This record gives sequence, C-alpha cells and structure tokens, in this order.
Amino acid sequence: MENTNFAVDKILELCKIPSPTGFTHDICKHIAEELSKMGFEPKFSRKGSVSACLGGEGEHLVLAAHVDTLGLMVRSIKSNGCLRFTMLGGFPANNIEQENVTVHTRDDKTYTGTVYINEPAVHVNRDSGGAKRNDEGMEIVLDEIVKTRDETLALGISSGDFVSLDPRCILTPSGFIKSRHLDDKASAGILLALAKEIADKKLSPKRKISILFTTYEEVGHGASSGFADDTVEMISVDMGAIGDDLQTDEYKVSICAKDSGGPYNYEVTTALINLAKELKLDYAMDIYPFYGSDVEAALRAGYDIKHALIGPGVFASHGYERTHTKAVDNTLKLLRAYIGA
Ligand SMILES: [Zn+2]
Repeated sequence: MENTNFAVDKILELCKIPSPTGFTHDICKHIAEELSKMGFEPKFSRKGSVSACLGGEGEHLVLAAHVDTLGLMVRSIKSNGCLRFTMLGGFPANNIEQENVTVHTRDDKTYTGTVYINEPAVHVNRDSGGAKRNDEGMEIVLDEIVKTRDETLALGISSGDFVSLDPRCILTPSGFIKSRHLDDKASAGILLALAKEIADKKLSPKRKISILFTTYEEVGHGASSGFADDTVEMISVDMGAIGDDLQTDEYKVSICAKDSGGPYNYEVTTALINLAKELKLDYAMDIYPFYGSDVEAALRAGYDIKHALIGPGVFASHGYERTHTKAVDNTLKLLRAYIGA
C-alpha cells in the first residue's frame, strides 16, 4: 500500500503540470529528474518522450504511458480581445465549458482565463442553454483588461500559443482521485511507483524492462518511436474505459481484449488475465468501442512486437475524470507480478 500511496502522490503531482499534447517539455523534464533521483538513466527521444531501463535481462518488455493530454491552442484573437481556440485531442466542447485555463505564450509568459459560450449571461441570452458548444460558439475570456484585438496582441499572446485546462485535482478522504488528465497521468504515476519500488528494494526483474513516457498520444503517434530496437513486447498502460455494458469500474485494473485498432496479442493478454485471476485482483476484461492505444501506434509504425493494453478504470474519460486508489493498487500489483520483480 505504501507504494500505492507514492503512486497517488505522483499522479496528483503530474496532473498539476500542464502538458497539452505538443507542450510536454516541462512534464518530461520533471519525469526525467524523478527517474534520475531513483538512480536510473533517463533518455529523451528527439520528439520528446522519456524512457529508462529498469534492469533485467532477456526479452525486452516496454511499459508505456503517455504524459501528453487534451488541451487547446489559440486559433485567433477576436475583435473583442477574446481568444478563439482550436482543440488538441478529441473531446466535445461542452466538456470544457466554464473551465479555467492558462495561456502559455512562446516567450514563457502565462495568462489565465475561462472558456465561455459567446454571450454566456442567462439574463441577456435567452438561448444560452441551447447554443451550440463548439469552437465557433465559444471563446476564452482572459483575466486581463482587454477589449480589442490589439490590446490582447500587446500582451504578447498570438495564434499558436498553447492553452492548458485547470486539472482541478482532488483526492477525497474516501480514496477517489478526481482530476482532468487522469488519462494517462494515472498510469504515468503508476509506472513511476513501479520504478521507485525496483530502485528502493534493489529488485531484479526476470526480464529486461523499460518504462516509456510518450508524447503526442492524444493525436495518434505517441509510441510510434522512442524505444529500443530490441523490444519484443510492449504494454500500453493507459486508462480503462467505463460505460454501457463494460465491466471495468473505478476500482479495477482493466485488461483490454479489443479496441478500435482490433484485438490485442493473444499470448500477452491471456497471460495478464491468468495472472490477475491467480492474484485474485479486482480486474475486468473489456472491449473498448472508441479507443486507440499507444502500442497500436508502435505497430502501425512497423514494429514487430507483441502488444497489450491494461490500466486503471477511469470514469468520464476526456472530461473531468475520476478513478479510485483501489484501481491504482490493482494496476500496480498486476504490473509488478507480470514483470516478476
Ligand atoms: Zn490515454
């Protein structure tokens, strides 16, 4: 449980670091520092992912979680001084209505603001409830005294600036973790906890193990590069989907049998299920109807590897998400057993 607490601390810490897809340098640097502190030797890929070998010999297994998240980018500055945005990653715009945001300019200034529909006042706009929620009907209202495009430009904000969403991280006394971007920072925290345990207890995995923190997953090419050529197997550690007719919930480790990219590797997926049964873990095997994982990006890039997908169940994915410490614990236990440390 001690290590699960460490994972939860890391999850909350990671959720608070802005990392919309394409703007992941700070979080990757942070992760590299964490891994160095543990005594590992983190490596960066050219496109910004971080990886570290945790030791072991034999068939190389890579555990991959992504640290890029959904977010926004400034598309243009409107005549009223507000910002029109474009979305980074896929989500319905109503999921960010009235969310606080931070604009990150390319010269390292930050400005806060909030996403509203145009004319949000119900005392003025009779149709505020029915108005279309999309990038045309919504805008970012800056917390700055600006009324014109020129005034906003004078702040140094321009098209192409990244915008991060307030994660609103909360750990409740009942063990729920509520935050944006648990997809996939919940798994990234779990991988850091696994690394910490191997380092602290000087464990030697029964095969060669690396962990990989990818970027650009939310736009489809996260794990298409950035790992060693001798990799024979990769497990995407990413959120388990929860919803209609699925068995996964916020307490379970979810093992995915098939998603939009087709079925996962028979041998690896079956081994994970058998292990979960043997350990009497709270787990579910599911089929995610609208889901693509990072390891599929690796396969599409041409790598000849065995692939699987597991992760903690996350409710309300790509919205204000929620999971429970029990799901973190179950995922950590399954991974620990699978790597044989
Ligand atoms: Zn994800």
